[in-house]
This record gives sequence, C-alpha cells and structure tokens, in this order.
Amino acid sequence: MVTIHNLGFPRIGKKRELKFALENYWAGKISRTELVEKGRAIRAENWALQAEQGVELLPVGDFAWYDHVLTTSMLVGAIPERHHQGCDDANLDTLFRVARGRAPTGCTCAASEMTKWFNTNYHYIVPELSINQAFKLGWQELFEQVNEAQQLGYKVKPVLIGPVTYLYLAKCAGEEFNKLTLLDSLLNVYQQILAKLAEQNIEWVQIDEPILALEIDDSYRAALNTSLSKLSGQGVKILLASYFGSVANYYQDIASYPVEGIHFDCVTGESDIEKLDVLLRDEQILSLGVINGRNIWRADLEAIYQQVSTVAKKRGDCLWIAPSCSLLHTPVDLEQEEKLDSEMRSWLAFARQKGTELSLLKKALSTDDSTAIADYSAPINARKNSPRVNRLDVQARVATLAETDGQRNNPFPIRNLKQASVLQLPLLPTTTIGSFPQTQSIRAARRAFKAGELEEATYHAKMKAEIRDAVLAQEALGLDVLVHGEAERNDMVEYFGELLDGFACTQLGWVQSYGSRCVKPPIIWGDVTRSRPMTIEWTVFAQSLTKKKIKGMLTGPITLLFWSFIREDVDKHVIANQIALTLRDEVVDLQNAGIEIIQIDEPAFREGMPLKASQWSSYLDWAAYTFRVSASGVKDETQIHTHMCYSEFNGIIEAIADLDADVITIETSRSNMALLGAFESFDYPNQIGPGVYDIHTPNVPDIGWIKGLIHKAAEKIPVTRLWVNPDCGLKTRGWEETRAALDNMVTATKELRAELSRSD
Ligand code: GLN
Ligand code: ZN
Repeated sequence: MVTIHNLGFPRIGKKRELKFALENYWAGKISRTELVEKGRAIRAENWALQAEQGVELLPVGDFAWYDHVLTTSMLVGAIPERHHQGCDDANLDTLFRVARGRAPTGCTCAASEMTKWFNTNYHYIVPELSINQAFKLGWQELFEQVNEAQQLGYKVKPVLIGPVTYLYLAKCAGEEFNKLTLLDSLLNVYQQILAKLAEQNIEWVQIDEPILALEIDDSYRAALNTSLSKLSGQGVKILLASYFGSVANYYQDIASYPVEGIHFDCVTGESDIEKLDVLLRDEQILSLGVINGRNIWRADLEAIYQQVSTVAKKRGDCLWIAPSCSLLHTPVDLEQEEKLDSEMRSWLAFARQKGTELSLLKKALSTDDSTAIADYSAPINARKNSPRVNRLDVQARVATLAETDGQRNNPFPIRNLKQASVLQLPLLPTTTIGSFPQTQSIRAARRAFKAGELEEATYHAKMKAEIRDAVLAQEALGLDVLVHGEAERNDMVEYFGELLDGFACTQLGWVQSYGSRCVKPPIIWGDVTRSRPMTIEWTVFAQSLTKKKIKGMLTGPITLLFWSFIREDVDKHVIANQIALTLRDEVVDLQNAGIEIIQIDEPAFREGMPLKASQWSSYLDWAAYTFRVSASGVKDETQIHTHMCYSEFNGIIEAIADLDADVITIETSRSNMALLGAFESFDYPNQIGPGVYDIHTPNVPDIGWIKGLIHKAAEKIPVTRLWVNPDCGLKTRGWEETRAALDNMVTATKELRAELSRSD
C-alpha cells in the first residue's frame, strides 16, 4: 500500500499567527513563554491539518522561529561568536540576534546575511563558518518537537537540511577556504543527531539535499557520497530528498547511495520517475513528489495517476507519494478565501488541500478506481478550454511579436542626445527609486477603503494629498527628478495584480518571505490584458503639481511574473510577453500624457535565473527581450529607467546592458560600491545610478560618506553618465530620516558639482 508523507508545512499559521506573535515578542508586548506557547499551538494545528487530510508520515523539524537554515545552524552549534554574547547555551534570543542583530535580551550586533533559498522567494539566513569551525550538538528543539508530536500520537519523520547542502549554502567568515574541509566535523554532529532520533524510536529521517537539482562540481558530488555513507547505519532509515529540479545529471550517484529511500520532484523532473524506478533497488522506497509544492493549482490527478500507476503497482509498499517539496511556498488554506469566485476556487489547492489530493490519489492507486479523481480534476481540465482563460485577442497579439518590438527606434547614443536636450538635467542628476514612506495613516486609509468603510472618492482624495506632500517635499529638498511616491500602492506586484485582467489576488494567501515577513503573491490564471490605464491618473496629478519632471513608475514584466503564482499551461516567456505588452501600452499612455521619464522596476530579474547554469543564457535572452518589449513603444526622447536591488551583477552584466534601459539604478551602497566591480571589466554603455545610501536602516548617511561613494563610482563610470539616488524605495522608512538622508544626498551632490566645475 502506498504511503502519504509530507516534506514540510507552512509555519507562519493560517492567519499569520506566528508573524504577530514574533513581532509582539520583539516589541516586548508578550513574554517568551507566550511566544513558545504560540509556536507549539501552530505546530499542533499543522499536524492536525495534515493528518486530517490523510498524511500518514508527518514532518517535524519543518517549523522554524525565523528560518530553517538558521534552525540548522542552531542545531549544529554554528552560531557566530558575536551573537552568543557571553552565554554559551544558545536560546531563542540567540537565534533572533543572528537573524535580526537584536533580541529582547542582549545588545545589538550585525545580523547575519540573508539570501534567497534556491529559486524561490523565501530568504534564509546564511550560515557564517570559519576555517576552523567547531560544530557541536547545539540547540535541542528538534528532539523536543519530535517528543511533542509523538505525545500527540502522530507518526513523524524528522526533516533535516543535508550537511552538504548546508555547507554549500554557507559563507566563509573571514578568509576564503574550501568549506568541504568542514564536512567531517559536521558529519560527526549529524551522526549524533541521528543517534538521538533513533533513541526516540524514530524510524525515518528525511535528509534534504536540494543541491542535486543544480549543476554541482565533482567535489560536492564526492561530498554527497561520503556524507550518505556516514549517515547510513546510524539506527534510522534515511529518505534522501531533493527538489526544485530534475536530478537527471546524477542518476548513477543517487542509485549508489546507501540509503533506504529517495524522494524527488516529479513536477520538475517528470522523466526521472522511470529512470529512478529502474535504478533503485526493489526494497528501496521511491518517493514521488507528484503534487506541486510551489504552486497553487488543483492537481490534475488523472494525469498523475496515469503517470505513476505502473510504478506504484510494481513497487507496492515501497512507493510513497508527497508534494514535490516543502509546502512552505504555498498559502495554508483555500477554505479561508471568501472573495474568489467559485470557478476560480475550483482551480486551486493550497497546502491543506494538497493533502486531500494525495489521499484521493492513494485511493485511486489502491483501488484501481479513478472515478473520484476524474471528478476532482474535472474543473482544472475544463479550465483549459475556458474562454475566460483563453483570450484569443491576447494570444494573437503575442504571436505577432517580432524582434523589432524589442528595439527602441534608435540606439542609446542618439536617444541620449535627444533626451539631454528635452530633459535639461544637471550633471549628476538626483532622484529616488519611487516609493516614499508608507505611513500609518496611508495604511489605515487603505484598510478602511478595502473594508468598505471609506468611500472611493475619499480614499482617492487622501492618496492625492499624500502625493502632493511627497512632491512638495521633493521640491523643497531640491531633487532633480521627482516621483509621485506610490502612496496608492500596497505592494509593487499586488497593485498591478489587482488591476490587470488574468490576475487574481487572495485575501489570506500569505507565504513567508523571511522571518515574520510574508507576501501575498497574485495568481496569474489566464491570458493577461489591461482593460484600463493603471497609473496615469496618479502620475499626471503629480506632474501637475511641479515644473520638475515626474518619473512614472511601473513594475516590470519579469518581476510581475516571478513574484506571482503562475499558470502552468503556457510557457513562462509567453506569460511574460503578455504582461510586457500591457506595460508597453501603459508606458505609451504615460508618454502621451506628458510623462517624459518612466521607470520599469525589475528587482526579480536575476532571481528568475534557472537553477542549472546551462540554462542561464536562454533565460537571459528572453527575459531581456521581454523587458525591452515593455519599454520600446516610446519615442527616443522618452527616457526609460529600470531599477534592480540586491543584485549581484557579475556574470549577468551583458544581459543588463542588453535591457538597453537609458538609466539603471542599482543597489551598491551596502557593498561600498564593490558591486560596481562587474562594471570594471565590462564597459556598461548607458547611464547608471549606483545607490549612494542604504535605505534598509534608519541611519542617516553623512555628506562625506556619500561624496566618497560617488567618487568611487566615478572611477568606474564616467561622471557624465552617473545619477545620484538611494539604493531602493523609501516606503519602509519614516519621513524624518528620509528627509534628513535625502537632504544630505542633495547637498553632497551639489558640493561635488561645484568641485567638478572648478576642476574643469
Ligand atoms: N519602485 C519601487 C519602490 O520604490 C521599487 C521597489 C523595489 O525595488 N523592490 O518601492
Ligand atoms: Zn529596490
């Protein structure tokens, strides 16, 4: 009989209970005991939700107070010295110090770095390992949680990040060294962990090695071999799990691992099923990740049934089924959505519903009766031919896209001259990235508007008043290119998601982004069109208040794509092109309404890169083309900006140039302009605004510091092509620090201009 298991469940809570508890604890409003209690309640609810849906082997160790990579660091005793603060026993506050640089107890110190977990929008805390790192069995929470679940009567499978993936994701603290030299010592601790779990009567432990979905070098392959040999035979059975991509490069390696079971992602690696079935020994468990753990579509269970029934028959008890990866990346429960219409709901499945899907599939596999799954899958199959989903006009327009649609009328040098003559900007023009502080009063007004307590006209008037304040503030500061400030936008993706046809927004479809922060990705369910302009009214209003240029502000096609849940029945680049065409229309409308500078933000451009390096160049080609489609409908005189943050440009700088934006603003201040290194060997042709201060802290940068950074930038890029701006939008900041920081930025720029004109 097939067994249903799960790799992990969202830990944030159905109503983001963990978020609120954490934030209350950090603010000193609840005690540590209360927080711990809340965590326990969420775990209990999660296990109950999964068990009710028929999951037989439940994950434990998937819960995390902040991030599961950080939990692993706590477990193996890899906490940077500065976060211990004299107390050797790591506790919850130690964990928060690593994650946030502060905690209710202990003083402030620099937090550890955070970065994206593979190609998801989840961020993990990067372990900092030193050359002589000593690992030890540290925090004991995992064992307590196992106990907790067992007391509740559940059969559980602890989940651990595999030691090799852990080392792969870590960074060297101090000097660079080969992280794999630490493997032996780390394996000793993993052996102790497994031994302890065996004492707790645990039968199965899941070891996650998602680096098998990448293209890794031979040293990491060898490390995986060593690791799995050392971890087998420790008293528990090992299920090696990989996800996010096909493991096609490593079939032979996988077949040789001395483990009792293998889980892999059949959604991204469909053809792996047959291969692995043949290669694995009969008594090994084959766990098929058949339900997409990263998207929200109702599964086509009939198709999955067809795909796996032969293997299931053959393997009998040795076949497990599961979601492709942890459900961390999906919202908790579709039942909570009250505003999606019933047809739309019948197309979706969130984390809880994925358990039901596995149960239905198991039933069909064990009875050979597929009636129930056929019924279940009927709506998602009907969707394929729905006229609501398939808009022939949109499809026809995308089909006619040609190379020239991704080209401006003339190359940058010609556009540059024309733009200079109409825009009349000074040397080193100053600007910001788009948003101004989203104050409590803005948020409260939006909440009231959405709850139906505030009339639309009143809400609009309030937003316009905010825009007016932002414009006047920028004029007073003496900035050169102004923005309207984005008061009316809750989020740069959701705002457009609410306005575009083919997108749906949920009420409670929250997914953890990092720590207590969650995002609510829109769902792209059909062909995308724009039934009306989306930003013109606000932008034109802002322009009417000032003689300076207002820069229009849009979110780019690649970012709208990757920060949404996307449909799976058409290629990504086709969806992106549909979005690009709607943005192209918006860009042209902005131009025709008198807006001469338009920024198209693409912070997700780099993270859209496929996991396998061999696929990068084809991605970069279509992504850059898509961006250019959105930007190229305008005349030469209209200046197109783009913005990217957290971007590492080495290796993609040619693709960035390929976007052919007239101006790009980027994040460089935190690395002290080190990011500009990429611009040393490559002569970036267009204009660029390297961020001159970090907006992620409330600290006000001083004038000398800003001047220093601009000087540094000017060593790499001719000063005539440089802009001066903060490194990202200001929406998370308060007005006071924003004013002070921008004031210093403008003063620094004016002083530099004066110095430069004297030295001429
Ligand atoms: N224009 C957006 C803002 O200023 C850009 C945000 C981003 O880069 N993430 O908020
Ligand atoms: Zn940014």
